[in-house]
Amino acid sequence: MEKIVMTTPLVEMDGDEMTRVLWQMIKDELLCPFIDLKTEYYDLGLKNRNDTDDQVTVDSAEAALKYGVAVKCATITPNAARVDEYKLKKMYKSPNGTIRGILNGTVFRTPIIVKGITPCVSNWKQPITIARHAYGDVYQNVEEKLAAGEKAELVITRADGSKEVKLIHDFEKGSGIVQSVHNVNDSIESFARSCFNYALDQKKDLWFGAKDTISKQYDHTFKDIFSDVFEKDYRDKFEKAGIEYFYSLIDDIVARIMKSKGGMIWACKNYDGDVMSDMISSAFGSLAMMTSVLVSPSGVYEYEAAHGTVQRHYYKHLKGEETSTNSVATIFAWTGALRKRGELDGISALIKFADKLELATTLTIEDGKMTKDLAMITSLTETVTLSSHDFIKAVRKTLESLI
Ligand code: NAP
Ligand code: MG
Repeated sequence: MEKIVMTTPLVEMDGDEMTRVLWQMIKDELLCPFIDLKTEYYDLGLKNRNDTDDQVTVDSAEAALKYGVAVKCATITPNAARVDEYKLKKMYKSPNGTIRGILNGTVFRTPIIVKGITPCVSNWKQPITIARHAYGDVYQNVEEKLAAGEKAELVITRADGSKEVKLIHDFEKGSGIVQSVHNVNDSIESFARSCFNYALDQKKDLWFGAKDTISKQYDHTFKDIFSDVFEKDYRDKFEKAGIEYFYSLIDDIVARIMKSKGGMIWACKNYDGDVMSDMISSAFGSLAMMTSVLVSPSGVYEYEAAHGTVQRHYYKHLKGEETSTNSVATIFAWTGALRKRGELDGISALIKFADKLELATTLTIEDGKMTKDLAMITSLTETVTLSSHDFIKAVRKTLESLI
């Protein structure tokens, strides 16, 4: 078979530990034999981030802006232990945070569904994608503990310098707590646009919920911005695509999600997204079966697995012990990026290849061949637990039978 030719490079962001090991195996076994893989390579492994004073992370994000599609391996976010372990010059920021800051994007997380790994919620037949707003609210809060006799007030300085003071609470009768949160309209609008664009891209309905009845200014502003952007720029496109934008109170959305068949994109305010994405991923089976894509309002896509570098498995690997680490989400990060590159460059062979590699991955699991994490939770009775490498080789065998 002739290798598939690419015209534009993918921005490849390599990473750390066990996922870096899987990354190379995936390239060697599942990609390079079939594709004349064209990438612009950035090594985001912690050693190279340290050697470049983290400039490599910034460069990789700028390359993503230039080319439009990136694929990222999981990376270590250093803490004090990592500073010692890697003899770092400083405690660098999370690479994902740096990249998100440059691309100004929204993260969409979607579980990968296979037969034999059944969601806890039996009526969920299709994946539910969570889109989390990644700015503001309680994550950039200002809070304080107050003693009895103290008073908390909200002071607003208007543009002309005049001040308006609103009483939050008078703690005359006893001590208490106070918290202030904020958001900015530009960020909410970017979030809305990313969600509408992604819904069109995926041809899926978009749901959004906030507490606008209780929070008549704050949450209502989220509702209003989504509604204005939708009416102005997306209603026609949604009608043409045959998809729907649905807004309701957050409690109603939660209740409806539980009763639904799944298949929608669920836009969440920052805190709701933090909490609900953990619920969705555990209800669908495993963090190792969750993909993640960062979509910028200008249409840059960065694909990755939702899990981390699987440090515990890596230390076993370093000792020469066999590991059984699940590579599915990392494989799907590659297929997501290759499919998007194929769509943008009009290379149908690349799109078909991405579809086939995803199918080969799920068929291999459905045939009972899987890594340990899935073997422990599957309802299939005849299963073989494979090592990290043997699973990838089994996927290659299935892929070859499909090509
Ligand atoms: P983790 O790497 O996601 O792993 C936590 C545990 O979940 C593992 O020990 C393993 O459980 C299980 N697991 C996760 N992915 C798996 C897979 N593909 N196959 C099988 N089991 C899997 O989280 P962590 O240990 O908290 O973090 C490790 C490093 O990753 C940290 O340095 C953190 O900064 C980084 N991190 C990076 C990203 C990112 O780049 N997007 C995200 C999160 C964390 P068992 O040990 O029980 O088998
Ligand atoms: Mg969370």
